[in-house]
Amino acid sequence: PKFVYDFTEGNKDLKDLLGGKGANLAEMTNLGLPVPPGFTITTEACKTYLDSGEEPAALRDEVSAHLDALEAKMGKKLGQADDPLLVSVRSGAKFSMPGMMDTVLNIGLSDKSLQGLAKQAGDDRFAWDSYRRLIQMFGKTVLGVDGDLFEEALEAAKTAKKVAVDTELEAADLKKLVTKFKKIVKTEAGRDFPQDPREQMDLAIKAVFESWNGERAKLYRRQERIPHDLGTAVNVCSMVFGNLGPDSGTGVAFTRDPASGHQGVYGDYLQNAQGEDVVAGIRNTVALAELEQIDKKSYDQLMQIMETLENHYLDLCDIEFTIERGQLWMLQTRVGKRTAGAAFRIATQLVDQGLIDEAEALQRVNGAQLAQLMFPRFDEEAKVEQVGRGIAASPGAAVGKAVFDSYTAVKWSRSGEKVILIRRETNPDDLDGMIAAEGILTSRGGKTSHAAVVARGMGKTCVCGAEELEVDTKRRRMTVPGGQVVEEGDVVSIDGSSGKVYLGEVPVVPSPVVEYFEGRMHAGAEDADELVEAVHRIMAFADRKRRLRVRANADNAEDALRARRFGAQGIGLCRTEHMFLGDRRELVERLILADTEAEREESLKELLPLQKQDFVQLFESMDGLPVTVRLLDPPLHEFLPDITELSVRVALAESRQEPHENELRLLQAVHRLHEQNPMLGLRGVRLGLVIPGLFTMQVRAIAEAAAERKAAKGDPRAEIMIPLVGTVQELEIVREEADQVIAEVEAATGAKLKLSIGTMIELPRAALTAGQIAEAAEFFSFGTNDLTQTVWGFSRDDVEASFFTAYLEKGIFGVSPFETIDKDGVGSLVAAAAKAGRATRPDLKLGVCGEHGGDPESVHFFHEVGLDYVSCSPFRIPVARLEAGRAAS
Ligand code: PEP
Ligand code: MG
Repeated sequence: PKFVYDFTEGNKDLKDLLGGKGANLAEMTNLGLPVPPGFTITTEACKTYLDSGEEPAALRDEVSAHLDALEAKMGKKLGQADDPLLVSVRSGAKFSMPGMMDTVLNIGLSDKSLQGLAKQAGDDRFAWDSYRRLIQMFGKTVLGVDGDLFEEALEAAKTAKKVAVDTELEAADLKKLVTKFKKIVKTEAGRDFPQDPREQMDLAIKAVFESWNGERAKLYRRQERIPHDLGTAVNVCSMVFGNLGPDSGTGVAFTRDPASGHQGVYGDYLQNAQGEDVVAGIRNTVALAELEQIDKKSYDQLMQIMETLENHYLDLCDIEFTIERGQLWMLQTRVGKRTAGAAFRIATQLVDQGLIDEAEALQRVNGAQLAQLMFPRFDEEAKVEQVGRGIAASPGAAVGKAVFDSYTAVKWSRSGEKVILIRRETNPDDLDGMIAAEGILTSRGGKTSHAAVVARGMGKTCVCGAEELEVDTKRRRMTVPGGQVVEEGDVVSIDGSSGKVYLGEVPVVPSPVVEYFEGRMHAGAEDADELVEAVHRIMAFADRKRRLRVRANADNAEDALRARRFGAQGIGLCRTEHMFLGDRRELVERLILADTEAEREESLKELLPLQKQDFVQLFESMDGLPVTVRLLDPPLHEFLPDITELSVRVALAESRQEPHENELRLLQAVHRLHEQNPMLGLRGVRLGLVIPGLFTMQVRAIAEAAAERKAAKGDPRAEIMIPLVGTVQELEIVREEADQVIAEVEAATGAKLKLSIGTMIELPRAALTAGQIAEAAEFFSFGTNDLTQTVWGFSRDDVEASFFTAYLEKGIFGVSPFETIDKDGVGSLVAAAAKAGRATRPDLKLGVCGEHGGDPESVHFFHEVGLDYVSCSPFRIPVARLEAGRAAS
């Protein structure tokens, strides 16, 4: 294979091979934009290196050939003593990954070529500054030296000189700093800083390869569900310099506001600076608009390039650029990250501009973003003590205890505390803490700072650059204007949509998007939120496109009504056990423990009207839409007294010589029914077959409720669902009894009920014999919770707390199989059972009602295997509708 591509050879669709950065550099080069020449080493080269521990044999020669070509183009050689070509080496995976080694600039500088650079630039200070940056970046990212050591030395140099910013250090100071930095490298890395330019480059390339498997990169991939086997590309790019004086600088720009989606001039610019200075918040940047005053020519050119890029990518782009002595250079672009709200707004704006169509608009948003928009916000009416305001970097309302380091954030959140991670600025070492925290607050850095970028990516609330807050991480405290001190553990509230910071706990109110779904806010109304408008339109696109219907898991009228407002097209799972709790538990207990038929009949008779009333309400709330009622499912012990507690009670009564006959009888029964593994025991259809009259009572309640609704001119559409079936015989027996009861009710009421009877597919055997089961079932609903549990042999109640963390860490799972369907295992059973079922009964209705029904990735899978509907909790319904629409377009 070819391992190295010149920027002129690639294009934006080669992200798998060239990484995002490389593919887009190539695209810009081909668009004729000013990109410094360079080349990209492919992800294939990285993967080969990581698999074998050695660079592929052909790589060195290919790199040499491309370097020769680059040198010829630039008219100078890498590290050439009198006029050195310098390059940057930058990582760039398919997905942008802040956890990875990013950049080493100024490669090619050495004690020798330093003089040449100084002479060419006519600037000694610049040359020494570039050299110290190289040693610093190389030392940290390639040789693994603790970056703080360099930072501390830099701080010390500034203090010694009594200056505030690094630009005030002069050539002589920087020269001393270089000596100091070299010493740090020697002591910490046990080797000299390499003077050979090619060795510098090769080591940097290898370090980029290896950074793919760094701990932070792995953590980030798990968090973002990025596969571990993609590898990273490496970009080698000729250097341009933003630190050549006031007519130079570096900046970032967005073609639209990544927080609101509005078009305009958004970004930050920093004069006389290089690379990371902007993002790291080392000096204060100015707003991009000010560049117009500083350098009108470059500003105009940049505006034009931004337009070109938007029209080319048909999306918001973010850009890194550098100006070298009045000459503008593009260092990076990509389709930019944005907040969830902006994603919806931009998608509809682009449709209105005629740039994309509805189907494409659906690809520009996703269910996770919609879910995020459904989070509550702070109550604007609340009495609050605002103590600061920073940049609204990532929306949401977060409340928690102040913590000042990542370690404490993780520790406290593990013990159930909600925390806000407060830092001056964050760096990749803070990633764990950011994940653990409810929100992130920094006192430095802009919208493009590490904290902002990472938080937006994770959907975490973030306020950054709240400059009036004095954060003292060493003493674990923060001082707010007026002198009040926030100690570790004090509660703070941060609003990522406004940037406001409050002391204490601010009450939260529902999001406007939820208000809209609830019907309390209307799109098209004069005062309607722009966001609500956009969500309304996107949901309409999705509903037009989708084939999957969306139902709700609901077992009371209140949930059912909410689900309907959210767009549910019926109930896919009513768990009747929830109707047997509370006061009714005792009735069920009596039923289970009944010694005589009479006793059993008695308790069933008492339960019947209660059940019937439940169903009347449910059918009424879902009038005209299907309601799948599942007969009783849970393991027996959930309805019996706790065995330990009961034993204690009996023992106590015995020792006090009090009467305890009833307790004793109960205890004996509980012992008799006790199961080691109740999840695999007497539950579902087994319970129905063992306790005579139980299922028929439920069927009668359903039938009578339906008849009552009919008499009231309603349109009940009940479906009766039998849980935990493993063989068609179970279903046949229950069915026969049910049909008889239904016929009786029909005869007694004169109603024609048209109740359908179907089953859940929750056991591997059911899936494997789906063809037979379909003989007796009018519909299947895949219970993927139990199916996941039984296919994997994982206890759904235990494993997430016990070994899943280890499995996730080891990469055995990218995500819990209880959250996203395991396509290869559980999913393939679902697909096969669907096919076999339909072969027996072509009009078999197919749905899913496990938790996966509301999970975006799983919804796509269920669409692909041809199910008719997904059923999920009421709050997930908009997400499922959206994802079903996306899956179909
Ligand atoms: C399932 O097993 O997926 C299901 C929906 O049933 P429950 O969660 O009630 O066991
Ligand atoms: Mg189940």
